[in-house]
Amino acid sequence: MLTVYNCIVNQHDLRLVALAALICGISCFSAANLLQHIGRSTDRNRLAWLMIAATSTGFGIWATHFIAMLAFTPGIPSAYDPELSALSLAASVMLTAAGMWIATLRNELDYHLVGGAVLGGGIAAMHYIGMAAFEVQGRIEWNLMLVGVSLLAGVTLAALALRVVLRRPSFPAACASAVLLTLAICTLHFIGMGAVAIFPDSSIAISEYTIAPTSQAFAAAAATLVILVLAASALWIDLRFRRQRLEVERMHGLANAAVEGLIVCDGSRIVSANDSMGKLTGTAAAALNGKDLDDLFDERVASDVAGIEGQPREAELRSRDGTRIPVELIARGIDYCGRPHNVIAVRDIRERKKAEEEILRLAHFDPLTGLANRRSFSSRLDAEIASMKRVASAEPGVRGRHLALLLLDLDRFKEVNDLYGHGAGDAMLQKVASCAGGVLRHGQLLARLGGDEFAIIVPNLPDPQAAGRIAASVLAAMREENRAAVGGGLVSASIGIAIYPLDAEDQTSLISHADTALYRAKTEGRDTYRYFEASMGAEARDKRVMEHELRQAVVRGEFYLVYQPQKEISSGRMVGFEALIRWRHPERGDVSPALFIPVAEDSGAIGQIGDWVLEAACEEAARWENPLTIAVNVSAVQLHNPNFSRKVHETLLKSGLAPARLELEITETALVKDMPRALATLRQVKALGVHVAMDDFGTGYSSLSNLRAFPFDKIKIDASFIKAVDTNGQVAAIVRAVLGLGRGLGLPVLAEGVETLGELKFLDAEACEIGQGYYLGKPAPIEAFDDLTGHGKRTPDAPAPRERRPAISRQRVRSA
Ligand code: C2E
Ligand code: MG
Ligand code: MG
Repeated sequence: MLTVYNCIVNQHDLRLVALAALICGISCFSAANLLQHIGRSTDRNRLAWLMIAATSTGFGIWATHFIAMLAFTPGIPSAYDPELSALSLAASVMLTAAGMWIATLRNELDYHLVGGAVLGGGIAAMHYIGMAAFEVQGRIEWNLMLVGVSLLAGVTLAALALRVVLRRPSFPAACASAVLLTLAICTLHFIGMGAVAIFPDSSIAISEYTIAPTSQAFAAAAATLVILVLAASALWIDLRFRRQRLEVERMHGLANAAVEGLIVCDGSRIVSANDSMGKLTGTAAAALNGKDLDDLFDERVASDVAGIEGQPREAELRSRDGTRIPVELIARGIDYCGRPHNVIAVRDIRERKKAEEEILRLAHFDPLTGLANRRSFSSRLDAEIASMKRVASAEPGVRGRHLALLLLDLDRFKEVNDLYGHGAGDAMLQKVASCAGGVLRHGQLLARLGGDEFAIIVPNLPDPQAAGRIAASVLAAMREENRAAVGGGLVSASIGIAIYPLDAEDQTSLISHADTALYRAKTEGRDTYRYFEASMGAEARDKRVMEHELRQAVVRGEFYLVYQPQKEISSGRMVGFEALIRWRHPERGDVSPALFIPVAEDSGAIGQIGDWVLEAACEEAARWENPLTIAVNVSAVQLHNPNFSRKVHETLLKSGLAPARLELEITETALVKDMPRALATLRQVKALGVHVAMDDFGTGYSSLSNLRAFPFDKIKIDASFIKAVDTNGQVAAIVRAVLGLGRGLGLPVLAEGVETLGELKFLDAEACEIGQGYYLGKPAPIEAFDDLTGHGKRTPDAPAPRERRPAISRQRVRSA
């Protein structure tokens, strides 16, 4: 050790030793970094980096040696053999390359240590070949033990250096490895130098072709520095490139996680696109690179990318299969790979568009039938009227065309809803829409205005009669549909027609007039159409007003009941009363039920009114001392209500009236509308113990089969047959036949409208059981019959009513 120490301290210029150590340190640090880089490199550029690392490190070792040799001052002339010097450099580079190659083959201890040892061998080979190139005017003797120690130290430290740097690459590892490698080189060098003993010998001449040590050292140092600078630059460029690639990959990863399509553009050229964008266009994302925005969008987008910066804009994307996808674009400027680019987010808005269309459809179309709704109808009618006005003002002399407005309303649609439920009602409306739509031509509009109301706009009508033909076709189509329907159709329609400009010149009046015509169609038999006539207006208005007032009348207590006696003809004994409704209108006075009952039936108000009559009549009858019967008229609408029998039951319970005292009067026409349902309802009320009478017999179908099929308890011959029955032979024959029918079926017969003694006598002679009419007693408030009812005293079957209805009607009648 002392030899080595003496060698360094006494035989070396320490400043040059420091320089050698510095160069050695730099090249070792560079070697450590390059080694880490080789470990991370792909196969393709691994060899290139291995060569760069081996060259720079090999040169570094070589330069270190020669600068250190320059620091060595043996005190006698010396020089270097150029060939051996070159060989030492080659050995240094090649063995370093071999060592690095082995060490980076696998990330395992063995490979690291063996590779390091080979590199150490390279240092040793370089040193001792370099020493062989050293010519001095003297004799060199070697201390072989120190040579051995230098080899061992160099190889061991180099092996450790490579293990440290490759085991877990990091900056501290690179520093530690650089220190170890520097130590390996320096230790080997200086122990190696300590092993040398030079004995001056002037007889030994330095050969002619040698290089001076100073030139050799500086040349080596300069070459090494250049190589180091180049290696460092390459490393820097590679690291930068790698960082960029990582950045791009990270951006790709991030972009691919996005649901929206993303494209990065350099001007209008696409440089990158994410997977979502690939999916949207139907191509691989990579295939979009290099394409122009024009290839995907309309040229507005490509020419004005700046225009969509921060400002969303809708556009159409052309996918690979040619479909056009509505998208929303928004762009932002970004720094991509160190240059300004634009990133464009492409949002698929197909779902949104669909929702918008649906909202638009709902705003303008009726969801049930798919027809235009009231709003669309109204704007279309306005537009058509405006267009006709324009044409008329442009050509004042020419006889203008007409526009027809047809309003269509289903007859008794409410009954369908009540009887069969809303599902059946909806199906009916759809059927009507298809029937009416089927007969219309291009340019004509069918709309559903709401409920069971439809409208047809027929512009450019050549003559007003054409509107009637369209209405007739619609009705015919519905009749046809009814015929085809299983179980027979139930609903017909009425149509009102108003013509522009003959009937009205503005939308409101035109609709109002068509409505008036519609009401006329309804009152004149339904399943028909009517044109508006000026005279219709007032009448229709009246009916409309009455409908409105009827809805309020029950609440306002404007109804009351009058009672008409029904008597046994043979004895004159009181049998019961028929309850007849009266409407005391605040302005019109008493309104006949013959007038308002049909209106109430049409508007549906009859349900509420009928309930009121039933309750009021039952409560009244329950108060009588004489257990007389009470006959209550029941309308077809009530009869077909599935809840009717329950209502009767409830009313009986509430009033305490014995069921056998209640008689429901039903006309034949009410039955035939829906026989099975009518039969079911009648059976239910009969099961309660309530009696049922056929009212107005003879005016309707007068069908024997109906009489037999339905469980009637009484037949009421209509008043029209009783009038002058005693004097008119024909009428007498009919009445006799009906009486015979009653006897045959075992049903008592009541004669309505008995006005004279003669009629009564005839009936008595023909054994008609019961009579009702002005002769036997006019309809009057119940107070007029107190002696017959025994009012005030309670009948045994009439317990105290739990709740007494406010007798508004009774008070009104009294005060009247
Ligand atoms: P209806 O059930 O056949 O009632 C008998 C009608 O004949 C009553 O007319 C009654 O006042 C009238 N009448 C009675 N005796 C005579 C007579 O000797 N000569 C003449 N000319 N007429 C007589 P009203 O009260 O005007 O009722 C007319 C129709 O209105 C009723 O005919 C019935 O169908 C209906 N109606 C009356 N009240 C109600 C009710 O509470 N509910 C329902 N649904 N309909 C009712
Ligand atoms: Mg009646
Ligand atoms: Mg009657």
